[in-house]
Amino acid sequence: VLILGIETSCDETAASVVLRDQSGQGTIRSNVVRSQLDEHAAFGGVVPELAARAHVEWLDHIIAQAMREADIALTDIDAVAATAGPGLIGGVLVGLTTGKALAAALDKPLIAVNHLEGHALTARLTNGVAFPYLMLLVSGGHSQFVLVRGVGDYQRWGGTIDDALGEAFDKVAKLLSLGSPGGPAVERAARSGDPKRFRFPRPLLREDRLDFSFSGLKTAVRLQAEALAPLSEQDVADIAASFQDTVAAIVETRSRQALEQLARDYPGLPQRLVVAGGVAANRRLATALETMCAAAGAELVVPPIALCTDNGAMIAWAGAERFALGARDGFDVAARPRWPLDTPGMKVDDDAA
Ligand code: ATP
Ligand code: MG
Ligand code: FE
Repeated sequence: VLILGIETSCDETAASVVLRDQSGQGTIRSNVVRSQLDEHAAFGGVVPELAARAHVEWLDHIIAQAMREADIALTDIDAVAATAGPGLIGGVLVGLTTGKALAAALDKPLIAVNHLEGHALTARLTNGVAFPYLMLLVSGGHSQFVLVRGVGDYQRWGGTIDDALGEAFDKVAKLLSLGSPGGPAVERAARSGDPKRFRFPRPLLREDRLDFSFSGLKTAVRLQAEALAPLSEQDVADIAASFQDTVAAIVETRSRQALEQLARDYPGLPQRLVVAGGVAANRRLATALETMCAAAGAELVVPPIALCTDNGAMIAWAGAERFALGARDGFDVAARPRWPLDTPGMKVDDDAA
C-alpha cells in the first residue's frame, strides 16, 4: 500500500510517500521537509502562531512536491496519515485538517498518527527491527525509555522529570548565543572545545531509576557562562564540549542500566537499543552509545539523521503500520496538544486486520 504522511506538529512542514509491501517492508518514495528556521530565527525559539501560519502557507506545496518526487498521483494513495499530536496545536490542526480534507476528497481512509509513535517506529522502516524492543526517545519535547511491544503498545520505563534533552541543547545554545536549531549548533561549537575543562553536575545519576533530570545541568552551564562573561570563542567551545560530554555520560550510563533491566526482565530478547528523536543526530552521543553497546554485547540501532529529526516518512510509516492492522480514524478525530505514548487505547489489535 502507498501511504501519504503529513507532519506539522512543530516547525517542520513535511510530507512523504511511503510504500509498505505485503511482507511488511517499507520503502520511502519521497520525503520532503521544509524547516521554518528563518521564520523563527529572530525570536530565539519557535513561535506557535508563526509556525501555524507557515504550515498553512507551505503544506499544499510540500504535499504536491512529495507526490511529484514519488512520481504518483493523489488518486494512487491508499490512505492518508497525518500527525494528530502531540505538538503545537495550531500546526497540528493545519496538518490534520488537510489530511482529513484529502482523505474525504479521495474517499480514502484517514489514519491519525501520534508523532511520538512516528519516532518510535522509524527503526522498523529503516532497519526492520522486530517487536518488542527497547527504545531511547530523545527529542525536542521528550526524553524517555520505552519498551515498544507492538504498534500502539508502549510501556514507559522512565524519562525526564523536567527538561527534555533536545530542549536542554536548545537552551544551552541560546545562552551561549549559538543560534538555532540548538542541538546542531552546540555540536558544531563543541568540536573545537575541551570537554574536560568544566565538570558539570549529573543529576539523579546515583539513584537507581531510569529517569533523567536536565534542568539543573542547564542551570550549572548558565552559572558557568555568567562567571566567565564576557565569553571568548574558546570559552564557548569549552562549555559546549563539556556540556555535551556530560550529557553523553549521563545518557550512556542510563542506557546501560536500561539494557540491564531488559536482560533481567526479558531474558530471551536480543540485547538491542533503538535510539529515536532529533537528539539521536548527535555524533558525540551516538559514539558514547556505540562504545557502551559494544562493551555490553548489545546492538545499537540509530536511523539516518534525516529520519531522526521530524519528517513525513515516519508519519507515513506509522500510518502504514496502523493501516495494515486495520486501524482507521473517523473525521471527528481530535488534534491533541498532549498525547503520551503509553495512553490507553493506542493499541491496535492484530485481529482487527
Ligand atoms: P518531539 O518529537 O518531542 O515532539 P520535536 O519534534 O521538536 O519534539 P525532534 O524534531 O525530534 O523534536 O528533535 C528536535 C530536537 O533535536 C531539537 O531540540 C534539536 O536541538 C535536537 N537536535 C537536533 N540535532 C541535534 C544534534 N546534532 N545534537 C543535539 N541535539 C540535536
Ligand atoms: Mg523542529
Ligand atoms: Fe519530533
